[in-house]
Amino acid sequence: MSELKEALLYEKIDGGKVHCLLCPRDCRIAEGGAGYCGVRVNQGGKLFTLIYGVVSSIANDPIEKKPLFHFYPGTKVLSVGTYGCNMRCGHCQNWQIAHAVYAKQNLPSELILPEQLIEIAKKEGSSGIAWTYNEPSIWLEYSLDGAKLAKAAGLYTVWVTNGYVNLPALDEIGPYLDAFRVDIKGFTNEFYKKLAKVPDYDPVLKATIHAKKRWNMHVECITNIIPTMNDDEAQLRGIAKWMVKELGPGTPWHVTRFIPYLEYADLYPTPVETLERAQMIGYEEGLRYVYIGNVPGHKGENTYCHNCKKLLIERIGFKTEVVGLRDRTFCSNCGEDIGIRG
Ligand code: SF4
Ligand SMILES: [Zn+2]
Repeated sequence: MSELKEALLYEKIDGGKVHCLLCPRDCRIAEGGAGYCGVRVNQGGKLFTLIYGVVSSIANDPIEKKPLFHFYPGTKVLSVGTYGCNMRCGHCQNWQIAHAVYAKQNLPSELILPEQLIEIAKKEGSSGIAWTYNEPSIWLEYSLDGAKLAKAAGLYTVWVTNGYVNLPALDEIGPYLDAFRVDIKGFTNEFYKKLAKVPDYDPVLKATIHAKKRWNMHVECITNIIPTMNDDEAQLRGIAKWMVKELGPGTPWHVTRFIPYLEYADLYPTPVETLERAQMIGYEEGLRYVYIGNVPGHKGENTYCHNCKKLLIERIGFKTEVVGLRDRTFCSNCGEDIGIRG
């Protein structure tokens, strides 16, 4: 267990309560209580984070596993997660850590301070650090300190996020965060409400645009396509159209196969044809790079030049081979800039 650390971004309100300004949940927390995410608590009229340095999971992962396909391909990223989340997705693969109520449970963890995290990354030969596995925005204080040190040490920095974060929080970490791998889970409030227990997903879109336009982060979007829930043409086309307009046609979109789990254990895995249809919809709307995920061996994981169609990066599982790029980002055949960062 870590020392309590006073949280960033809150205000004191009437009756000893505090108002957390970090995410759109907008929690007003009474003395002794915790916010929706379970990791920010009111003690004595001040807001504290319980998870500074509290690491539930750590691994030196391929960057492709996040997934980030146009960002330092073939490198390893030291990936860390803690506990809690500000969403409650019914199919969350990491529910043991994400849905845990840290304030109330005695959960296993390792205390790794930001300085130690950088040392581990250097020792493991990682090229960067990713805050991932659970929602990193609710870990702002820790990821911010870590990101500052990481940048100073020449490492890249990544959030793997649901994007449900207020803009002032993004502004805190914006100068130190290189990549924003964000879930665009669907494209209606009804879907977000049902799946993630979030009433309005507009803040996700706004945060993503802000990450890209205000802070020039490298953005890649992911949509886990769940049969009968977000596999309709209107939502898929809506996401692709929005991405082209707001993030640009070169923004990678990962459409991934759903595997039945938790609340949705009775559903069926996404048919590959549905993923291929989603990919086609993305291309029709003008996206240049739409990747099919969670289907081992599918060629939809490879990067092809959108201009001349040459194979540029071959991916088999997490084995990545750059075969057709020059100077990291240009197609070696036609010279097109693919928009690879790193
Ligand atoms: S970060 Fe946690 S405490 Fe703060 S508003 Fe979001 S869910 Fe509530
Ligand atoms: Zn080309």
